[in-house]
Amino acid sequence: MHDSIFTKIIKREIPAEIVFEDADLMVIKDINPLAPIHLLIFPKKQITTLNDLTIEDSNIISKIILTATKIAKELKVDEKGYRLIMNCNSDGGQTVPHIHCHLLAGRKLKLEA
Ligand code: 5GP
Repeated sequence: MHDSIFTKIIKREIPAEIVFEDADLMVIKDINPLAPIHLLIFPKKQITTLNDLTIEDSNIISKIILTATKIAKELKVDEKGYRLIMNCNSDGGQTVPHIHCHLLAGRKLKLEA
């Protein structure tokens, strides 16, 4: 499997604005923000799509959501609200083949499909 853009960011082969990192995951600012706050939370384990998740990945998926909600609280957008999005494959709008969760906040978001 080739390294994804996000794996290259984890390996410091390409730059990114890193917001948080631990042994399991990384949080960066999206290079093309769609809202005043647009972060990407992804596991260090390169999992290509949501379809590839197994029961062994339960902890990391849980950790991705809990990290997103923790950051939303730290950024004080938890009361006004925010959106978490995970896209899968082409119809879902996935462009980076490494699962990730978008955290969008800072403006009123419309429901778009
Ligand atoms: P997807 O469309 O796969 O759900 O989301 C991928 C996201 O990654 C997009 O919002 C895109 O702007 C972002 N992205 C793609 N390449 C890079 C990069 O090299 N650096 C950063 N920070 N974000 C990226």
